[in-house]
Amino acid sequence: MDSIRGRVRGSSLLVRFAVVSLVLVVLLGVLMARLLASMIAERGLQSATDAAVLTTTIAIQPLLTASDLADGVPADKVEALDRAVHGSRSGTEIARIKIWHDDGELVYVADPHTSSPARTEGQPSPELAEALDGTIEAEIISSSAEPDNAALIQRYGTLLEVYVPILYDGQTSPAGVFELYLPYQPVQASIRADTARAVALLFLGLVILWLGLFRVVATASRRLRDESRRNEHQAAHDALTGLANRTQLDKELAAATRLARDRGSVALVLIDLDRFREVNDTLGHARGDEVVVEMAARLSALTGPTDLVARVGGDEFAVLLRDIDGVDSALLHAERLRAALRAPVRVGGIDVALDARAGVSVHPLDAEDGPALMRHADVAAEHAKRSHAGICAYDPALDQHSTERLGLLAELDRAIAGGELVLHYQPTCDLAGRVLGVEALVRWAHPQRGLVPPLEFVPVAERTGLIHPLTEVVLDLALTQVRRWLDSGRELPVAVNISTRSLLQPGFAERVLTALGAHDVPSRLLVLEITETTIMEDPERALEVLTRLAGAGIRLSIDDFGTGYSSLAYLKVLPVHELKIDRTFVAALTTSERDRVIVDSTVALGNRLGLEVVAEGVEDVATLEALAGLGCRLAQGFLFGRPVPADQLRLDAPAVPVGAVGEGSDRVR
Ligand code: C2E
Ligand code: MG
Ligand code: MG
Repeated sequence: MDSIRGRVRGSSLLVRFAVVSLVLVVLLGVLMARLLASMIAERGLQSATDAAVLTTTIAIQPLLTASDLADGVPADKVEALDRAVHGSRSGTEIARIKIWHDDGELVYVADPHTSSPARTEGQPSPELAEALDGTIEAEIISSSAEPDNAALIQRYGTLLEVYVPILYDGQTSPAGVFELYLPYQPVQASIRADTARAVALLFLGLVILWLGLFRVVATASRRLRDESRRNEHQAAHDALTGLANRTQLDKELAAATRLARDRGSVALVLIDLDRFREVNDTLGHARGDEVVVEMAARLSALTGPTDLVARVGGDEFAVLLRDIDGVDSALLHAERLRAALRAPVRVGGIDVALDARAGVSVHPLDAEDGPALMRHADVAAEHAKRSHAGICAYDPALDQHSTERLGLLAELDRAIAGGELVLHYQPTCDLAGRVLGVEALVRWAHPQRGLVPPLEFVPVAERTGLIHPLTEVVLDLALTQVRRWLDSGRELPVAVNISTRSLLQPGFAERVLTALGAHDVPSRLLVLEITETTIMEDPERALEVLTRLAGAGIRLSIDDFGTGYSSLAYLKVLPVHELKIDRTFVAALTTSERDRVIVDSTVALGNRLGLEVVAEGVEDVATLEALAGLGCRLAQGFLFGRPVPADQLRLDAPAVPVGAVGEGSDRVR
């Protein structure tokens, strides 16, 4: 619609230019034609006058002497004059000739068409007076009060009357004047013909000029229009995928919510690709771009002509659904979109499977206008991500939650510095329940809320710089506890969880070593747990830091193994000591064949690479037995003990019913 309007606007401008320039060109043509006509007329008159002058000076003047003029033309000369006038061969027809003496007396008059020239007394006119002063005078007469002239005009039509001074050698003033009457019609006809030709040529030239000008302007205007259409498109679209961009989405959202007031509802689905960054980091940005383009095509293929797909971030898409039939229908649509994105994408010869999270908000149920719809879809998408749900519809309660989290963030700073963070410890055991180490898990002892679990504030801290002081506090608390145990004669390794940003922070390894030194704890009693995501975020940096830490004797463990996106190639070169199989696989070990295979292969992989394998989240004896069957030697979970403050840890008594599982491993990590 906009483009049609633009084209109409563009072409109407061109038409306006065409009309205005045409009017100007025509005006110019008329003015020039007039000027030309008057110049041609002037030149015609001049050349006729010149011809008359030539006739008199060549053919007539030699027949007369100065005394003939003064004393009267003798009869024989009159005859000669008559002959000359009658038989003028100069090409100029003479209608009448008068010869004046310089005293104003008419000495001769001849009309070639009357057999005997009439001799009349003439009256000197102003033109005659001028000619007697030496100036050639010419005038056109088309009517006259003089009967003599009137008869001549009747016969010849308009006349050219020329007064030619008669000058003899050695004289400075004219001896007399020839007064010639020439038929003006031939001159006029030639002037007309010349003018018509010149004007025709002028107009032809102007038409060609105008056409050329029009063509140039039309081409330039078309180019400008194309260019402005391109710019308009670029301003509203994403360069990589050609999808609408955020600006365009905002515009369309505003329009859709405005229009939808009386009609059906409008839904916004915000989709976030999971772990897309890892694709970029491991396969390169060009491959990452290929994935984005493919995802964009899949989303576009699933949307109708009235819907809009936009790319609103590196790996974020938004789909605006118009005329949707309520939340359920929007969720169904979102599910279809998500399913399409989850199908593997083949890039660079390998299949990459990405997950996607979607947040849905519906107008007018969830939001009145575009910005609110966007905000609420964002809150829903954020919740889908945090809760590991694939899709989440907006709920005002979610908003409250995110506001609460913002409140938490404001307080977290104070909490870290003010000693509100506490550590709970969960034992890691062999399958017989012997405690071989503990994992330190942070909690926030909030004065009003009570004990806040880490998932509610660690991710928030990770998104801000607060994760650094948090990691330092946890490390300090954990090492303080290890020192306490050492002082009471117990060597118990402690595992501390390290976030990506902390691990990759410059100087991290040095700070850990300094902390060990400050608490006088041997490095073999510290285990750092990192996730696959951390490693893949910046594999080279991670390798450098981990090598430094491992070189100092610190043990390294890959946490939540199997949930991330790791490369076996890195696993081989990383100086890690342990894999912790994520509890989602362990929990389903006895019920899902697929999870059993995953745990089985991970245990085998760990054993092959010479790594310890810890099964996380062991809650029952059946799982424990299954683990034993798979050759897994270490476990952690509620079956052995929940995370508790250090003083509540039961370190000596076996945590599982004796005999539940055969002999456990003696290996200490
Ligand atoms: P994680 O490192 O995988 O820690 C294990 C989590 O699983 C703990 O949750 C623990 O309570 C829970 N868990 C252990 N056994 C079982 C079981 O048998 N069944 C079930 N359902 N859950 C079990 P928690 O303490 O809520 O910690 C959650 C996550 O928060 C941790 O996962 C870790 O990633 C993070 N976290 C905890 N403390 C810290 C910390 O000091 N720094 C950082 N950066 N992250 C931390
Ligand atoms: Mg952990
Ligand atoms: Mg874990």
